[in-house]
Amino acid sequence: MAGEKLHLIRETPRRLLAIFAHPDDADIGVGGTLSLFSKAGTVIRLIVACNGDKGTLSESASSQDLIELRKSEVDEASRILGVSEYSLLGIDDGEVENSVALRRSIVAEVRAFRPDVVVTHDPSAHFFGTTYFNHRDHRELGMAVLDSIFPASGSPLYFPEAGRSHQVSYVMMSGTLEANVAIDISSTIDAKRDSVRSHRSQVQGDEEHILENLIVGARQVGKRAGVTYAEAFRIMANPKAMNF
Ligand SMILES: [Zn+2]
Repeated sequence: MAGEKLHLIRETPRRLLAIFAHPDDADIGVGGTLSLFSKAGTVIRLIVACNGDKGTLSESASSQDLIELRKSEVDEASRILGVSEYSLLGIDDGEVENSVALRRSIVAEVRAFRPDVVVTHDPSAHFFGTTYFNHRDHRELGMAVLDSIFPASGSPLYFPEAGRSHQVSYVMMSGTLEANVAIDISSTIDAKRDSVRSHRSQVQGDEEHILENLIVGARQVGKRAGVTYAEAFRIMANPKAMNF
């Protein structure tokens, strides 16, 4: 809850798979952490579920143009953060469903990349104060990711066609109301800001305000963790992982 002290974690994962709904979600939620880990040698793969085709309030925008633009924005942001590789699942915005088909593709990604840590949305977060309720795609995707980690990815008889089973050690959830840890991003706050700024289609017209809010948010989390800037997470062990 807001204001409570957060425990700082300093472990650096070996391989990290970040799975987020929209093209700018990883940068906004965990950009400082991805940059920090990549500098420390973590191999990072990002999966973006949606193509961002509805991410505008303009009545005259074309979805096809937006999809192309947002692909290039993911590419630029990934370079800024040191994300080694990314893939786009291409689901239309608003249409993420925690379906068997989506879980099969996430399981295939997990088994192919074999991460020790997965970072995603906290699907249990619905209402943030009186000013934001969570996007459906975030909730559906976050739950699909958890369902794919346990029990699916680690159990050979789930989706045997999707690769050799793999146990993820733990999951870190962003956009949470139940944060229990923080990561010190004081050294990478600039990279986070630059990665968010690279999503020009999303920040244009309001860039200064959006980036200022980002910095203020990171400072507030930092205060709870005793550092200048931080990102907050809900961390949970994979119930089946033995090495947590
Ligand atoms: Zn989003």
